[in-house]
Amino acid sequence: MSSEASTPVLRGCIKLPLEEDELLEITAKAKDYALMHGAAMRSKTDFSPDTLNFAPFLLVPSSFPRKEFEKAVALQPIINRLMHNVAHDEEFITTTLAETIKVDEFTANLFNIYRKVLAHGFTQAYSIGLLRSDYLAHLYEGCAIKQVEINTIASSFGGIATHLVPLQNFVLSELGHAEKLKNMPKNNALAGLCDGMVKAWDIYGKPKAVILFIIEDVSYNICDQRFHEFYIRETYPHIKVLRRTLTEVHREGKLGQSKELLLGPHEVAVIYFRAGYEPGHYHSQDEWDARYLMETSLAIKSPSIQYHLAGTKKVQQALAQPSVLERFINDPEEIKAVGKIFTGLYSLDDNDAGNASYEMALRTPEKFVLKPQREGGGNNVYGVDIPDALKRMTRVERSAWILMDLIHPPLTKGYMVRPGGEMPPPIVDMVSELGIFGVVIGDADNIVHNYQAGHMLRTKLSTANEGGVAAGLGALDSPYLIDSDNED
Ligand code: ADP
Ligand code: MG
Repeated sequence: MSSEASTPVLRGCIKLPLEEDELLEITAKAKDYALMHGAAMRSKTDFSPDTLNFAPFLLVPSSFPRKEFEKAVALQPIINRLMHNVAHDEEFITTTLAETIKVDEFTANLFNIYRKVLAHGFTQAYSIGLLRSDYLAHLYEGCAIKQVEINTIASSFGGIATHLVPLQNFVLSELGHAEKLKNMPKNNALAGLCDGMVKAWDIYGKPKAVILFIIEDVSYNICDQRFHEFYIRETYPHIKVLRRTLTEVHREGKLGQSKELLLGPHEVAVIYFRAGYEPGHYHSQDEWDARYLMETSLAIKSPSIQYHLAGTKKVQQALAQPSVLERFINDPEEIKAVGKIFTGLYSLDDNDAGNASYEMALRTPEKFVLKPQREGGGNNVYGVDIPDALKRMTRVERSAWILMDLIHPPLTKGYMVRPGGEMPPPIVDMVSELGIFGVVIGDADNIVHNYQAGHMLRTKLSTANEGGVAAGLGALDSPYLIDSDNED
């Protein structure tokens, strides 16, 4: 995706550039504010468990169309319900993933766990979804939001995003623009997500049971996880959080008489997966065995295996096909509203429809993104690189991938502040991706909690295909809501 001279630029929150002296001073101050308020990460290049870098961030909040932000917020409970219903539709998940699991080993391994759990019956009927639905505004439809993806596992940045609003509020106030704060929506993602975990803990109903976070071997995004842990202990002093890798669960974990998950002296009420979404997290069969052990346990999982599968790109593609939504949503108005946020998504399965998408991708690759069944960034293939990638695959291998229309967001201009970055930071062209968090708790028949839980904004250089915050091209941000290009 390259920035074209013709791409419209959204009106900024304040007039740029700032005077160099003022910019240097406020940037230094904002960096310290970020560090001191935990908008921070461990360095990948210079790792030490004893130090933090501030997380890359936008000095001044990036503009986002107010109407579209509000639309995304209002849609979240409907999307929560949609995903909950999809996760509980065995037939839909099985048919949708049938071709993919023939060639994608990782999804097949997840699906095998699902199959085994189905065969033995679910020990725990309840699931908790801690979701994040991601959007880009699409220029060609009046800046209407289009869903990039929906995350059902390890939906991150709720913790740090919550602290980014105060950071940017501070910067705006320092720069003499306190009147602008009213256009920055409050963000309670951290509380929303953690309160959700505690609601699941309540359903489990054992006062001594703990909440288990499944973590990577090394957590670079440590603040975003510790915020959750600390919030839970501070708000609910009687609840303990444990952190364990999949390898450690394999070593320490066992099932009790009623299939309760036991880790040493602790019984686990709720499992929150911040790892387990990519093949690299499973070093050997041990980690898969640990995942299976947890799935068969009585603990309430975020995500349960069916929720994990419901969050695959392949399921997202299937949901965007005409009349599929009717299977999961009753209200015609809601079907229409959700349908509008989908952009074109195409199967590459080995059949007539899949072969037609293949031909279409070869003809006009610049219109598309090619996506495998992976999470965590850096896996997609963009535009002109698509034909070569597709031609290297056999017909069957293609079904591990889906094709998606490229979304064309408007540009914003601003200062991206990075550890070790240029001082003062230059003004750069950027695009922003909005994430809306949602919490949904229920079993196959009922939903007992369903709400929207805050938001996050990630902003990347307009020349970058992807804006991984740790990867170096993206930064944390929060939306500055604008109404139209003429007013303030
Ligand atoms: P992942 O699961 O790796 O996060 P995503 O589907 O979110 O995969 O894609 C990663 C990034 O690629 C997104 O954050 C976005 O910046 C970019 N991207 C994905 N899909 C599109 C699209 N259809 N149009 C434009 N950019 C996209
Ligand atoms: Mg993503």
